Amino acid sequence: MDGVITRVIFTGLDHDPTWVFDKVLDSPKVRDNQVLLRVRLATICGSDMHTILGKRHGITPVVLGHEAVGEIVIDKRNNSLPAGTRVTFSITSSCFNCERCRVQMPQKCVHLEKVGHSPLTVNQGFNGCYASHIILGSGHHIVPISDALSDKVAAPINCALATVMHAAEKARTGVQDKSALIFGAGLLGIYTCAVLRDKGYERIWCSDVDSGRLKVAERFGAKPVHAQRFWENDCSIEEVDTAIEVCGNADVIQHAYNSLRHGGTLVLVGLVHPDSDLGLTGEQIISKGLTIIGVHNYTPRHLDEALDFMVRTVNNYPYEELISPHAYSLKHIERALNESKQQLYHRSCLDPWI
Ligand SMILES: [Zn+2]
Ligand SMILES: [Zn+2]
Repeated sequence: MDGVITRVIFTGLDHDPTWVFDKVLDSPKVRDNQVLLRVRLATICGSDMHTILGKRHGITPVVLGHEAVGEIVIDKRNNSLPAGTRVTFSITSSCFNCERCRVQMPQKCVHLEKVGHSPLTVNQGFNGCYASHIILGSGHHIVPISDALSDKVAAPINCALATVMHAAEKARTGVQDKSALIFGAGLLGIYTCAVLRDKGYERIWCSDVDSGRLKVAERFGAKPVHAQRFWENDCSIEEVDTAIEVCGNADVIQHAYNSLRHGGTLVLVGLVHPDSDLGLTGEQIISKGLTIIGVHNYTPRHLDEALDFMVRTVNNYPYEELISPHAYSLKHIERALNESKQQLYHRSCLDPWI
């Protein structure tokens, strides 16, 4: 073991976030088929912010954080990776044998465990990434990271980018996938611009209320559309094959409907909260012959695809600029969260070793 083991435990109730900075002196006991990782860098995902702000209910106390780059300390699985290997990992742990795993939905496994969402009793409390170390079981997909990717570029791959790979796969109709409209220019929206371009989409629009974020979307290959134009019925883009919602705001759904061609596909990614009534009638969906698909998390294959995609395109887009230039220590997590709340960057980050 190198260094003192630390973690930040979130004990807050809704709208009252409180934290305990914890130094654990006992070394974690790594069992057979488990892996102990040293967390090199963690990024703060929007879903963590939702938990902290009481917009989404989770168990407490909990060690939050699931987007991260780790380094193998001890690997007790068969075909183990050597100590020091830099890795990413699936945020979900699955059995790959239950009825949901057997229908290619391991991210909904009946025995599911998720990094950053488990009680402190699981893996001795080393189960979230706002910590110096984390223990993963054999149900996680753990993959080495190419030297071509910095920790900052690699950290959001195991949530944001892998989810986008899943959404982009589901968006394809096989009939015509040439134009798309993305609602939301947060990190998922930005990645979606680049991924759809890579998949051969010729015309990609991205809509958001934030002009700064739309400028970023432009640098990732999209034509920007200020959301205000939709509200004012001043939007004259062509009908699109695909609409992808990654903004979490149900108000955009009617605009997505209006923008889709007959037989088009609407993919829902961000509306994972109770306030997500689509406001569409059956008649609207049927008469336009739409396909509506929900995408939550991803499977191991999408994580592999996300890594390949990032290695292939890392020099094509300014990925590093999406992440805050400086990292915060775990002791200063509230500063990182404030930065994240202000949306100065697409991701703020934590370095447990400073
Ligand atoms: Zn996430
Ligand atoms: Zn299962």
